[in-house]
Amino acid sequence: MSLEEIKSRVASAEQDSGRPVGAVTLIAVSKVQPNERVAQVLEQGHRIFGENKVQEAAGKWPDFSARFQGLDLHLIGPLQTNKARQAMQLFNAIHSVDRPKLAKTLARLAQEIGACPDLFIQVNTGEEEQKAGVLPNEADGFVAECRALDLPVKGLMCIPPVDEESSLHFALLAKIATRNGLDGLSMGMSGDFEKAISLGATHIRVGSAIFGERGS
Ligand SMILES: *Cc1c(COP(=O)(O)O)cnc(C)c1O
Repeated sequence: MSLEEIKSRVASAEQDSGRPVGAVTLIAVSKVQPNERVAQVLEQGHRIFGENKVQEAAGKWPDFSARFQGLDLHLIGPLQTNKARQAMQLFNAIHSVDRPKLAKTLARLAQEIGACPDLFIQVNTGEEEQKAGVLPNEADGFVAECRALDLPVKGLMCIPPVDEESSLHFALLAKIATRNGLDGLSMGMSGDFEKAISLGATHIRVGSAIFGERGS
């Protein structure tokens, strides 16, 4: 599917759910994709991209940023504290803040650098053992902890379990965000972004539907 098709599906979903066109930020997830494909999407004018590994992003985006102005890069994968500084320098937003140790490291570096990317707190809505994110019943406390550290928390992020109806997870994430006074909702991927938009997503993370299947 092309970028244009995805953009028009996003616009239809915005209209169908009574939301203003442009309410949703489309993050093109470029992880593992060949550089030529990423370049094609850049040449079509798209500037908002997501990567799930700091190392991989550091390998490709400095070159692209020399060629294309106005990039907006989002880290959507787990972040180790020892890569936090590098991540803060590369990315405009981090969607995977998921533990106190990382929050404290980000706060210390933000003080030192004098800037901080927009932050999303990842919530493990499916309570899956292998998945990152704070548990739903720990989310309020962790949001408060991040705010006490003066971190710029913009919203919440989730990755629903593969074998469950994602709408339930999107609705839960939206509920936790509302009760914490947060506007940002990073939810919805290639297979379910329209559902996510109808449930209030502000940021959708779409990879394979834009770029094609990822080789491994
Ligand atoms: C890879 C990835 C996506 C994109 O997945 P697609 O199904 O290819 O759209 C979205 N979010 C996260 C956290 C990812 O790692």
